[in-house]
Amino acid sequence: MTPLADVYVGLGSNLADPVVQVRRALDELDSLPLTRRVAASRLYASRPVGPQDQPDFINAVAHLRTRLSPLALLDQLQALEQRHRRIRQRHWGPRTLDLDLLLYGNETLKLPRLQVPHREMESRAFVLLPLAELAPRLLMPNGRRIADLAETLATTGEVEVLPGNAN
Ligand code: ATP
Ligand code: CA
Ligand code: CA
Repeated sequence: MTPLADVYVGLGSNLADPVVQVRRALDELDSLPLTRRVAASRLYASRPVGPQDQPDFINAVAHLRTRLSPLALLDQLQALEQRHRRIRQRHWGPRTLDLDLLLYGNETLKLPRLQVPHREMESRAFVLLPLAELAPRLLMPNGRRIADLAETLATTGEVEVLPGNAN
């Protein structure tokens, strides 16, 4: 059996009511097979990259413990995205839920379908701020400390905690 791994997943949505999407997905992550959600960050709002005539993104990070292998977990995350996407395509148009596998234990993977750590995470405040809230002392496989990475991006002001959303 695959050993228990600590995993961090980044959630994002800019549906008309993205808070609902993200909250629901946080619950659904706790229901994945062989997986338990041990913590979730508060919700964060971030300005969309590019055109500003769309809703802000809502982001969060979840800390999971799982016995799913990295690819089995990716399959589950993509299936969960699809379930949200079906709803989205019917009612709202594209993109209600994005689930990115940020970190899987201390592993570095470069597979065609899966790069871990997520290749953009070190440059994204909307990933690093919620991640630093959950795991400030955590180290990337390259040895960088999450809190240090977050600090360099915290002052850009493009990400803020959503009021009244402590988990
Ligand atoms: P970005 O990856 O820059 O955040 P995105 O989330 O919009 O962009 P998607 O369209 O959701 O990109 O995913 C594209 C592909 O990325 C997926 O089909 C998946 O196989 C691959 N992928 C590679 N590494 C990861 C990872 N760590 N987490 C999730 N998907 C990944
Ligand atoms: Ca993404
Ligand atoms: Ca993605």
